[in-house]
Amino acid sequence: MKDIRVRFAPSPTGYLHIGGARTALFNYYFARKYGGKFILRIEDTDRERLKEDSVQQILSSMKWLGIDWDEGPIYQSDRLDLYRKEANRLVEEGKAYYCFCTQEEMEKDREEQRKRREPFRYSGRCLNLSKEEIEKNLREGKPYVIRIKTSKEGTTEIEDLIRGKVSFDNSQMDDYIILKSNGMPTYNFACVVDDHHMGITHVIRGEEHLSNTPKQVLMYKALGYDIPQFAHISMILAPDRSKLSKRHGATSVEEFREKGYLKEALVNYLTLLGWSPGDETEIFSMEDTISKFSLDRINKTAAIYDIDKLTWMNGVY
Ligand code: GLU
Repeated sequence: MKDIRVRFAPSPTGYLHIGGARTALFNYYFARKYGGKFILRIEDTDRERLKEDSVQQILSSMKWLGIDWDEGPIYQSDRLDLYRKEANRLVEEGKAYYCFCTQEEMEKDREEQRKRREPFRYSGRCLNLSKEEIEKNLREGKPYVIRIKTSKEGTTEIEDLIRGKVSFDNSQMDDYIILKSNGMPTYNFACVVDDHHMGITHVIRGEEHLSNTPKQVLMYKALGYDIPQFAHISMILAPDRSKLSKRHGATSVEEFREKGYLKEALVNYLTLLGWSPGDETEIFSMEDTISKFSLDRINKTAAIYDIDKLTWMNGVY
């Protein structure tokens, strides 16, 4: 078996959320259990969503919890040349294309599709531009994005290590943007290029990214990369099964730290939120978890957040 390499890839848009901390923990346990490497990657290419100081806060929360990484932090903003090179390679290979559509054109298409009650999808207007047209547009300095060509036929299947076989209908696919007009890669594209170049063998992340996975698989295939194994961890829901948010109390690691919770209790609680050691044990250390850790003990169903249980654990330590 190839040496295991996993990553945690937060976007620096705020404090480390407990869901993110749990994802980081599961990646960390997996790497430690199998003698692999845990890489920390900062996904900071979406400049509008960045919050100042959040990288420092995320790193500080991880260190406080005792989650240490072997490589990184690697910043995507330092790797823009690589994404551009790979996007241009796809264009040269005829697997991606320049799109010069303006906002007005896109809005018009959207309106027409709305009238036809179709979901919005790129019209394909720039799919077959001639070389001359492309060169003329570039000479005139027209802004462009790069889109990947997508087959809308058949299905894309992934064998998720937690969820089992997951099948996606390709008729839902679009010619996704891989490079934006400001030269920045989109999340899916940068993620695929990096996971490949960093040699990631297992992508363990939150279920909210499951719908991105078929898009990423499409990109792996176009780029000629091997596809890693995927493992999507179920959501953490509020006690009323709604999406966990601020109104349910503390949701960031930093808030628990400020309130005086012990890191051991928080780590123990988050570990049990969606994972089971296979017996009735409830109180265990990181070392205990590492020795027992396996992905097949991660629950397929959503985990329910229970502050009383965390508070109880905090009293036990
Ligand atoms: N930057 C993404 C996030 O914070 C990570 C996605 C991934 O792990 O692929 O949600």
